[in-house]
Amino acid sequence: MDGSNLFFKNLPENMTIGNSYAEDLLLREYGAVFVARGGAVPPDRVVFTDEEEVARFQQQLDVGQEMIGGFLMELQAPAMAGLRDAIAEAKSRELSISPRDKDSAKRTYNETIDLWASRVDPALKHWVERGRMTQAEADILRSLSPYEQVPEVLELEQEGIWFAKDLSKSIIYSVAPPGTSQHLAMLAFDVKEHDDANVREILAKHGWYQTVVSDLPHFTYLGVPDSELSKLGLKRTSDNGRTFWIPE
Ligand SMILES: [Zn+2]
Repeated sequence: MDGSNLFFKNLPENMTIGNSYAEDLLLREYGAVFVARGGAVPPDRVVFTDEEEVARFQQQLDVGQEMIGGFLMELQAPAMAGLRDAIAEAKSRELSISPRDKDSAKRTYNETIDLWASRVDPALKHWVERGRMTQAEADILRSLSPYEQVPEVLELEQEGIWFAKDLSKSIIYSVAPPGTSQHLAMLAFDVKEHDDANVREILAKHGWYQTVVSDLPHFTYLGVPDSELSKLGLKRTSDNGRTFWIPE
């Protein structure tokens, strides 16, 4: 069986996947979380539609809370257990593992919307000025819900109308589209000390891996030793001396 079949075989049984370019791209870029093990509950859809859908998913989870670096962090219980162990091991080696900010663990849907709009709005203005879109087209896109905007933006990007902050690449390398962040699943943690190879090694030992190549502080709870990851359909890739695990 080739790797990509293996990945699809390891997705949650009840998972709904649309047959669109957007879902395909998002699964490829952020998909590692969907094969999380070790008692973690992966989301059952690639894109959550709205706050209500995210809240419903988050409410059924077994949650662990912890004050870390002055912030109250919330994660799925097995992910928090792995993080606690990693922090303890780091401490014994005179290292530290702490959150970058107050939103480093759990996020709500609404928290991801402002960030998305902060990329989409200036990009629309830019592309209208450049004559690549009409004002009417931009207005229509702006009037859509964030959920409806995601596939439209990703389609436009196929024509070279980019929405990342620097307007030269996909918005997904700049911000996770609303409803797609691994932080909504409470299986992600942004680490202040991500530059330290020893810290990354300790996190990996306790089930936490890098899975999004464009997001260096971001770690994902996968809940298994690295020797198991290829069996889940993930492949190891190196970038800037770091190891990432991404869908095959
Ligand atoms: Zn993150």
